[in-house]
Amino acid sequence: MCGIVAYLGHRKAHEVVIKGLKRLEYRGYDSAGIALLNNGLNIYKKKGKVSDLEATLKEEELNSHIGIGHTRWATHGEPNDVNAHPHYSATESLAIIHNGIIENYSSLKQELINKGYTFRSDTDSEVLIQFIEDIQINNDCTIDEAVRLALTKVVGAYAIVVMSKNDPDTLIAARKGSPLVVGIGKDEFFLASDATPIVEYTNEVVYLNDYEIAIINKNELQLKNTEDIPSTPYIQTLDLELEAIEKGGYEHFMLKEIFEQPKSIMDCMRGRLNANSGRLVLGGIREYANKLINADRIIIVACGTSWHAGLVAEYFIEEFCRIPVEVEYASEFRYRNPVINEGDVVIAISQSGETADTLAAMELAKSKGAIIFGVCNVVGSSIARASHEGAYTHAGPEIGVASTKAFTAQLTVLNMIALRVAHKKGTITESRYRELLVELETIPSKVEKALKLDDQIKEISEVFKDARNFLYLGRGYNFPVALEGALKLKEISYIHAEGYPAAEMKHGPIALIDEEMPVVCIATRDSSYDKIVSNVQEVKARKGKIIAVVTEGDALIPQMADYVIEVPKTDEALMPMVSVIPLQLLSYHIAVMRNCNVDQPRNLAKSVTVE
Ligand code: GLU
Repeated sequence: MCGIVAYLGHRKAHEVVIKGLKRLEYRGYDSAGIALLNNGLNIYKKKGKVSDLEATLKEEELNSHIGIGHTRWATHGEPNDVNAHPHYSATESLAIIHNGIIENYSSLKQELINKGYTFRSDTDSEVLIQFIEDIQINNDCTIDEAVRLALTKVVGAYAIVVMSKNDPDTLIAARKGSPLVVGIGKDEFFLASDATPIVEYTNEVVYLNDYEIAIINKNELQLKNTEDIPSTPYIQTLDLELEAIEKGGYEHFMLKEIFEQPKSIMDCMRGRLNANSGRLVLGGIREYANKLINADRIIIVACGTSWHAGLVAEYFIEEFCRIPVEVEYASEFRYRNPVINEGDVVIAISQSGETADTLAAMELAKSKGAIIFGVCNVVGSSIARASHEGAYTHAGPEIGVASTKAFTAQLTVLNMIALRVAHKKGTITESRYRELLVELETIPSKVEKALKLDDQIKEISEVFKDARNFLYLGRGYNFPVALEGALKLKEISYIHAEGYPAAEMKHGPIALIDEEMPVVCIATRDSSYDKIVSNVQEVKARKGKIIAVVTEGDALIPQMADYVIEVPKTDEALMPMVSVIPLQLLSYHIAVMRNCNVDQPRNLAKSVTVE
């Protein structure tokens, strides 16, 4: 989950590394650190932000051309200066940065303690570097060989970079289950956990595969695996614009990403959908398309916001494709003994494509013979690569930790997949199919219109910013939207919020309602409208404060609600892409008003690459 950056070349390493860490800070931000070769191997590290670390560096002392840096998301040991990365080996000749978890760290640590080693930190990562050095000393070998031998004994997930005092022109990197990319410049190399710190220097990159070790010398990149078998680097051209990873005048990445949604949804449909001609093509789903069409059951595995997108897809796929769907938390699915039959198809959804639990769940399903379709945003990510086929969401980099544009892009892709399957299967009439394609094409302009509600939502946020609890209610397609709205609020404003199917409220949560309780009712005009009207009445009768999201022109609910947010009309099956917009804005403004760090909420990190 953390950010890793390393540099070797002719530039001042600390400048590249610090800038890169700032770009990666969304991946983890408990603490930050950097190791440089300035009259010896020196480590500077600090609890808190990269800017806190930067403030401790004395520019005039720093002229190293090699460096490694890290922003941490603590798994082992509290976030403090000592546990921050990089970590030294025992003799302080080596330094490591590590993303992931070394699962067998305690037995390795005990072995080292028995040999007389002592430890400064509580991390699993320090154990690894001490272990590597122990192997190097005992075998009198090169560091890359010591890293390789050590990794054959390691259980867990990692992306690591190691540098050595005695080898000023070498960086050793390796990955298993945690992303790592090498950027190749002119006589310089970059390493990072995603391409964002690299893009301004070069667009030539090599994505490391699991079990691969990269040995970077002054002018050369060599690859081998942990079995010592060499391979040729596969150089790819990076398709990423610098402006896509900058704030572009917005105060926060989250706000930028909310406002990018008309474009990101359009980008997601571009070249795939043409409503005029009735054309709907998904280039990534070809060979296995029949498996989907003939699936007996679809199992969707995902976590967090992606899981909510999966719930919407469940409604959509069952309605139009008539295939039973189960939506599973990847973290639960993988640890039970799920029944997976021949004829079952799995869809794995993940923005980053690196979500550890989702990856493991799909690997489990794969081992039982299931065909896997990936829905990811990051091109070339682990889930994308491990899937049989799939479709990218093409939403562009999502940096804000609270997912927004990835959610609506996931819905777009999932809807397109389902419509394609339904059409092929003949479970949807031609006219309904055409109608939905036309409606799908109008979604970007409807989202654009919903974004105009921003000022009104700001005013509502002002009223409720000090609330201690929130309830979100929705039915049908809007039920997952209620869950997503509640999650957004919890994540970034730290207000307790619960999403509920509106009818379920009577079975418990209604007890919470009093004049203090804001209740967000997503009550757009759809087949369950009359039912949710009754639920709104029930809230009103108990004096709850009603914030209703309704379809433009609705005359009934405004008579009961305290605050009314009108969104453009669309087909109920596509409404989540529109009705979620005011909820994203509501959580954003409340968080800003509460002085919360919107892009880097406490305890969270983007791209959950640990289990
Ligand atoms: N397990 C390591 C630690 O707790 C690495 C965490 C990370 O990925 O940031 O320090």
